[in-house]
Amino acid sequence: MKKTDISDLQHFHKVVDCQWACPAHTNVPEYIRLIAAGRYTDSYMLNWFSNVFPGVLGRTCDRPCEPACRRGRVEEKPVAICRLKRVAADFKDDISDRLPAIPSKKNGKRVALVGAGPASLAVARDLLPLGYEVVLYEKDQRGGGAMRTQIPAFRLPESVLDEEVDRILDFGVECHFGQPVQSMGWLLKQGFDAVFVGSGAPRGRDLDIPGRQEASANIHIGIDWLASVAFEHINTIGKRVVVIGGGNTAMDCCRTALRLGGEQVTVTVRSGFDEMKASPWEKEDAMHEGIPILDYHAPKSFQIDNGRLSGVWFEKMRAERDDKGRRRLVPTGEPLVLIPCDDVLMAIGQENAFPWIERDIGIEFDQWDMPKLDADTFQSTHPQVFFGGDAAFGPKNIIWAVAHGHAAAISMDLLCQGKDLHADRPAKGVTLVSQKMGMHDWSYGNDFAATQRLAVPHADKFKTLKNIKVEVELGFDAEMALKEAARCLNCDVQTVFTENLCIECDACVDICPEDCITFTTNGDEAELRTRLTAPATNLDQPLYVSDPVPTGRVMVKDEDLCLHCGFCAERCPTGAWDMQKSILTLPQAGGVCRV
Ligand SMILES: Cc1cc2nc3c(=O)[nH]c(=O)nc-3n(C[C@H](O)[C@H](O)[C@H](O)COP(=O)(O)OP(=O)(O)OC[C@H]3O[C@@H](n4cnc5c(N)ncnc54)[C@H](O)[C@@H]3O)c2cc1C
Ligand code: SF4
Ligand code: SF4
Repeated sequence: MKKTDISDLQHFHKVVDCQWACPAHTNVPEYIRLIAAGRYTDSYMLNWFSNVFPGVLGRTCDRPCEPACRRGRVEEKPVAICRLKRVAADFKDDISDRLPAIPSKKNGKRVALVGAGPASLAVARDLLPLGYEVVLYEKDQRGGGAMRTQIPAFRLPESVLDEEVDRILDFGVECHFGQPVQSMGWLLKQGFDAVFVGSGAPRGRDLDIPGRQEASANIHIGIDWLASVAFEHINTIGKRVVVIGGGNTAMDCCRTALRLGGEQVTVTVRSGFDEMKASPWEKEDAMHEGIPILDYHAPKSFQIDNGRLSGVWFEKMRAERDDKGRRRLVPTGEPLVLIPCDDVLMAIGQENAFPWIERDIGIEFDQWDMPKLDADTFQSTHPQVFFGGDAAFGPKNIIWAVAHGHAAAISMDLLCQGKDLHADRPAKGVTLVSQKMGMHDWSYGNDFAATQRLAVPHADKFKTLKNIKVEVELGFDAEMALKEAARCLNCDVQTVFTENLCIECDACVDICPEDCITFTTNGDEAELRTRLTAPATNLDQPLYVSDPVPTGRVMVKDEDLCLHCGFCAERCPTGAWDMQKSILTLPQAGGVCRV
């Protein structure tokens, strides 16, 4: 194998798993170390730089980083990365003097944002410090998008949302709340240099089964109903509620119904419990509140008595494999089941809708009526119009919306500066910095004690079920945060090997707790993987291979097993091993910034 080029971003891409799994590439290990050092404000700012809404996301993020976390390889559960982010937000000091200066002299370019969700707000956050005039149109009266209208206050308190949304609006966004954009043609005529469409995926799916029309007074589309609850247009529901659907919207609907007077709230899902789209923690929270989830129940019709909804009939299903091994759901043949109810909440998915974009205006749509976009620049077929968040590729989550916002802001800036959106895009890079402080001293904690993941304490159920605004999760206190932060393996601190310093004493091999270092003759990768002290079976994780050492052998380290503890570097008598922090430089509008 060729010597590994550790200056290649792709190597770190695979080694700092959490940071790369985060769509906004938040510098997870660094912010966790800052929390461990009690530097909450610094940790918050590092987060704010990449993910823009640390307080919101510390409570609500879909956490793609956690399944990727390397702690999960040495213990059952990953570091509670998301909830540590909340710690930074909860314990930070005033950050007003750390925010970017907004130039009073503008750069002469005006951009429009459609919708005030996280995608648009991320664009505003990135472009305002560069001197852009940013004009926002939002159909609702407040900013935040689905973070405000969909996520219930018992998961995301209004004060947390207001703080992070207002921070951006206060940078000087010209806001037009309560003003839906009804025509893209009209918007383009306003003379903007670029337009960003962050209008989300606002249409909830309906279910056209017998009885739907007759019972319509008591059948509610989940996302519309949640928005009405958020804006306090609705504050009650019938005592018996059936929620149809198995995603996170269903979980928010059932828990909200319970707080609005529902006494028997039941979730029904067509497929199996394990296949439900809802995150495991959302399902756990719903069940903890006493809500049953009935799986393999397919809705067949609504029961109407005296002109009013009185129940839903379900057909029981089971999963089976067809001739080609494909899994499908088939009826069990058992009699239909009636679940009596007063109201139904329909949470079976959402779709995009762009009725306000004229189809002859230069923006092309595909066969699913989604805009055709350049996946790197988020530019539509109309050069001045960009899409991001749920409006770009369908419903996803907040952190993806933010990541899209950053990417689109780079493109809009390049366009406005007359540059090429691909060729002039700022590049990603990586810098390595030694973490050595003394002979055996590192600037990071390298104890990898087997502490189990700590559970976030919850408020008393009897209090939270009585009031929709009482937050369920209490968050970690400082002591718990410190313990949980210590579980992080500092995967960004890399083991760096300098072959010409190595005297082949094997001290590193002896001390390594994971048997991940092998000195051996070189070979091709597949064969070399089988010859290591501990065979490297995870093909997704790279080997780190050196140039030959004096005896002609090479050093091979399995990046999959390495705990980044640094014992090898502590033990090495010549300094051939060093622990070096890899700082990824990720682009944002206006150039490359360090994270
Ligand atoms: C019930 C529910 C719970 C969720 N929970 C989570 C969660 O816990 N964690 C998570 O990460 N994600 C969650 N999501 C998903 C997340 O909210 C979205 O993915 C995210 O908000 C998308 O951001 P966005 O900026 O693309 O659009 P949105 O947040 O949807 O914002 C779009 C905005 O555009 C406005 N708008 C639409 N059309 C127009 C127009 N023509 N003119 C002017 N304004 C317009 C809308 O009013 C809205 O304010 C949830 C979604 C739902 C439905
Ligand atoms: S152990 Fe820490 S640095 Fe490593 S993947 Fe998990 S959170 Fe990230
Ligand atoms: S840092 Fe060194 S000693 Fe620790 S697990 Fe990795 S190779 Fe082994």
